[in-house]
Amino acid sequence: MRSGTNLPRVGGYNQAVVLDAIRTRGPVSRIELGPLTGLTNQTVSNLVRRLLDAGLITESGHAPSSGGKRRTLLMPRADGAYALGVHLDPDAAVIVLADLVGSVLQSHRFALPRPSVPEEVVDEVARAALRLPGSADVDPGRLLGLGVAAPGPLDGERGTLLDPPNFDGWRRVPLLDMFAKATGMPVALDNDATAAAIGERWIGGKRRADDFLFLYMGAGLGAGIMVNNQVLRGGSGNAGEIGHAQIDAGSRPCDCGSNGCLGPHCNPAALVDDLFARHGSAAARRLGLSGGPEAVRADWRLLRRAVRAGDPSATDVVRLAGRRMGQAVRGAVALLDVSLVVLGGEAFGGVEHVLGEEIDAAVNTTSVTRALGRVTVEPSLIGETAGAVGAASLVLHGRYAPGWRMLTEASAPR
Ligand SMILES: [Zn+2]
Repeated sequence: MRSGTNLPRVGGYNQAVVLDAIRTRGPVSRIELGPLTGLTNQTVSNLVRRLLDAGLITESGHAPSSGGKRRTLLMPRADGAYALGVHLDPDAAVIVLADLVGSVLQSHRFALPRPSVPEEVVDEVARAALRLPGSADVDPGRLLGLGVAAPGPLDGERGTLLDPPNFDGWRRVPLLDMFAKATGMPVALDNDATAAAIGERWIGGKRRADDFLFLYMGAGLGAGIMVNNQVLRGGSGNAGEIGHAQIDAGSRPCDCGSNGCLGPHCNPAALVDDLFARHGSAAARRLGLSGGPEAVRADWRLLRRAVRAGDPSATDVVRLAGRRMGQAVRGAVALLDVSLVVLGGEAFGGVEHVLGEEIDAAVNTTSVTRALGRVTVEPSLIGETAGAVGAASLVLHGRYAPGWRMLTEASAPR
């Protein structure tokens, strides 16, 4: 929890501190906000009045009386602000409209007809995004902007997507400026795993208020890192590339040039390949898998369904991936000293528990801090739309979280 300052002329920052405390610890009374924020009761009272007037919080009931005057409780107001979030994957876009507490009011997923032409993708996605607020009857004055989450690596300074794997035709694409022009709105950009971690913090309140590692699986694998209640971005904004951690597995070439990276073993295409390689075509046919690059999405859905139904071959390859992830996550947990690992992203849906068991075993049997307590491994509170909800939360964080720096943020063009 961040502390405020009682010096004059820092009202904006203090207001963000109070809103963040209400959001992450609420429902909470004015009297509790003093110790939580380090602000005087008088300052808290003034700032709460301003937040009420701005429509960002609401009074909601009373705390049980302990003899004296009953204390009014404060909560964030869902309709206080809205943001759009876009998650770009190599072949599809997911767009959401989220409110101030992170609830999704509208969501839309569509395949990209010409994914290798960035200009067309941006135009199409921007048009689709701009339709959502109208269909949800949202006050346009409370729509703050658009967040974009894309697979890394990114040039954070310039808001440019460098050359993400599986994005043919995308090299040094100035995504931030393109979306700002196409929508006329403020835009924030980050990589999908970091955006997902920020979204998890935004939605999770008390449960995600401290340190955690967000393991994100979409078309590829990445990690978002939250330490001391701040996102860790690293020097170039590309921290968390856990897919390039070296593990002990058969060699599969990685885009980075190495043969020992985790990433090439932990994506839907790799798991489908593993099923064919370890259990043969007969097992694959039995599950309805057809193999080949065009069928990956459908095959991965069938494979996950088979895991949920208890099929031993399907479960075996997912467990293998979980053990491989466990090797890298164990290192990350030791390095960062986090006590929570969250699993989320479009590709995790339905198999988090199986992967989670393997990762849990890897991080807890040999953890350096096991004398202090277990590392918890659990599914994301957001689930499969973590990338898009995370993207929307970039905008909400940028506006309302105290002391947060967005990786890159562009104002609406004039
Ligand atoms: Zn690599």
